[in-house]
Amino acid sequence: MFFKISDNPFTGRLPDFFSYGQNAITMALAALVVMLPLRAEAATQNNKAELAALTFRMAGDELRSRIVVMFDAEPKAETHLLALPHRLVIDLPETNFGFDKESLEPRGLITEVRYGLIAQNRSRLILNAKGPFKVEKLEVLKNESSSGYRMVVDIVAGSDREFAQALASQTKSDAALDGEEAGISPGISDTLGSSHQFTVMIDPGHGGIDSGAESAAGTLEKNVTLSFGRELRDELMKYKDINVLMTREDDTFLRLSERVRLARQHETDLFISLHADTISHKDIRGATVYTLSDKASDDVAKAMAERENNSDANAGVASEEAPVVHDILMELTQRETHSFSLNFADGLIKSLQGEVNLINNPHRFAGFQVLRAPDVPSVLVEIGYLSNKDDEKLLKDAAWRKLAVERIAHAVAKYYTLRNNVQALP
Ligand SMILES: [Zn+2]
Repeated sequence: MFFKISDNPFTGRLPDFFSYGQNAITMALAALVVMLPLRAEAATQNNKAELAALTFRMAGDELRSRIVVMFDAEPKAETHLLALPHRLVIDLPETNFGFDKESLEPRGLITEVRYGLIAQNRSRLILNAKGPFKVEKLEVLKNESSSGYRMVVDIVAGSDREFAQALASQTKSDAALDGEEAGISPGISDTLGSSHQFTVMIDPGHGGIDSGAESAAGTLEKNVTLSFGRELRDELMKYKDINVLMTREDDTFLRLSERVRLARQHETDLFISLHADTISHKDIRGATVYTLSDKASDDVAKAMAERENNSDANAGVASEEAPVVHDILMELTQRETHSFSLNFADGLIKSLQGEVNLINNPHRFAGFQVLRAPDVPSVLVEIGYLSNKDDEKLLKDAAWRKLAVERIAHAVAKYYTLRNNVQALP
C-alpha cells in the first residue's frame, strides 16, 4: 500500500527550437506563450509540495521513545491515532523521504516505520507501536545551528483505556479522512466501556536467552520462576474478583522495560516479579521481598539489583538511554504507589511468616529497574536462593510450592480488600 517516492525533481527544459525552420519557430513561440504560464504555475505548485524529510532518528525503550525527523523546510503536520495495531499517523504535504534503512530498525516502543505518498500532494509517515501509547509532545522546531526544521515526537507507553479514550476523542474530520479505519473498533470500545477489575500481574523473572541464575546441579532460574508463576496464577484465579495476568507464559525473553510496559498497559493494581537467584554466601536462604529504593538496604540487596538490572545486557540486548523528563506529577504518583508497594510487602511477609522459610530481615530494598512503574505498586520476591541446596530442594518440592503460592495469594486477597476499602472512601 505504501511505497517510497522516487526522486523525481521537476525538470522543465525548453524544447530545442533552433533546429527547426521559421514556421516551426513561430508555432513553437505561439505554443510557448500558452505553455509558459502553465509551466510557471506547475513549477510553483511543485515547489510548494516539495518537502524533503532528510533523516529519521529514534531513541528510548519500551516505556518512552523519542523520534526526531529532519526536514529541509517547515513541515505542516497533522496527526491522528489508529488502533489494531496501535499506530501514530503523521500526515504531511508531499514529501521526498531520504531516510536510510538502518535508522528505521524497530526500537523501544516502535515496532515498524512506514512512509509514502497516499494521495496527490499528501504523504504519510506511520509509526507502529508495541502497545497503547500517549503522544506526550509533538513539536516542529527551527534548527539553530543548521538550516531546516526538525520534528520531535515523544511517545510514552500508556494503558489500553487511555488509548481508547484518545481514539474516541479524535475529531470527526480525522475519521472522515481515513474512512472506517479511523473508527473505533469493537475491541477498543469494549476497553473504553468496561469498568476496571482489580488486576495482578505475575512476572516470572528471566526467560528465553536469559536463563537467570543456575544452581550447582544445573537448575535454571527462568524455569523455576515460570512454573512457580503458573502455580501462583492458578491459585489466584480461585478468587473470582481478581483478574490475573502474566508477563510471560512460556520460555520467552522479555526486556525489563517491556515487563513494566505490560504492567502499565493493563493498569495493573499489583505487580509481582518472581526470582530465585544465587548469591555468593551459600548459607543464605529463605524468601525475600524487595521493594524499590534509590539506596539499597544492604549489600545483598545492592548486588541483587545490579545483577537483575544487567539481565538485558547479559541477554545481548543493549540498554537504551531513555530521554530524561522531569515530571513532578509522576514523582507524586510514585510516592502514593510506593506506599502501596510497602503495604503489600509487609502483608506478604506476615502471610509467609511461620509457614514459609524467610531470610533474616525479609523486607529489603534496592534500585530494581523492573519495579519502576510510577503507577503500579510493585514487589520483587526471591522465593528462595538457588545457591542454597536446601532452598533448591524446596523450590523443586510440589507440596512446598503449593503452600508458598497459597500464602502469597492470601496476601494478595488481603491487599485487594484494603485497596477496595481505600477506593470506597469519599
Ligand atoms: Zn533473577
